Amino acid sequence: MKPTMLGIGMTSQRTRDRLVARLREAGIVNNEVLEVVRAMPRHIFVDEALASRAYEDTALPIGHGQTISQPYIVARMTEVLLEAGPLARVLEIGTGCGYQTAILARLVKEVYTVERIMALLQGARQRLRELHIQNVRFKHSDGSWGWPEHGEYDGILATAAPMEVPDALLQQLAVGGRLVIPVGPRGDQELLRITRTETGHDREVMEKVSFVPMLGGAG
Ligand code: SAH
Repeated sequence: MKPTMLGIGMTSQRTRDRLVARLREAGIVNNEVLEVVRAMPRHIFVDEALASRAYEDTALPIGHGQTISQPYIVARMTEVLLEAGPLARVLEIGTGCGYQTAILARLVKEVYTVERIMALLQGARQRLRELHIQNVRFKHSDGSWGWPEHGEYDGILATAAPMEVPDALLQQLAVGGRLVIPVGPRGDQELLRITRTETGHDREVMEKVSFVPMLGGAG
């Protein structure tokens, strides 16, 4: 592995261990998720000027008015998605820098990820290649349509918040599958866990969150 991926000083293993300790304190219990977070070099997903802050439990800018999600929220959403057992096929809406994508890729069989901003998608693709992650497929599109060709999915995770849950995402969920998605206007969003049952969808509110909006069209 290149030394830049192992990290030194503020990006060292000790710094990552501190982040994992902090996530545990914040209530993350899935050890598999915590180990994947510990091993993932988050500093390569942000601009070099921000690398020293990559292991703080905070969202950071990634350009184009977007942010890399806070590690706590990445871990929490992943944990909630995995609660029902091992997942084969997961759809992610909002690739961004690819950090959440990379975490998912280490924990499930296949990840399908959709991003509307081409430059972000290309950056994410490049980083995952450097990390030798090969079970991810990328698409440049408006993710509110999902990615019907590869559905149904055992899990769907959205990292941008629509005003309402898009129908397409509900339809592309397999029976027993779950959709984890922030919904609502800026400043008043809730994280939902929606499970598809034989007869419909069960909807639970998890916690208050703050995500960038899910926008229409390909940017
Ligand atoms: N998981 C990402 C979060 C990025 S922020 C990370 O950790 O980096 C949310 C992302 O959703 C942004 O990159 C934004 O461009 C994207 N996005 C917003 N609306 C979208 C839409 N309708 N379809 C696909 N991607 C969308």
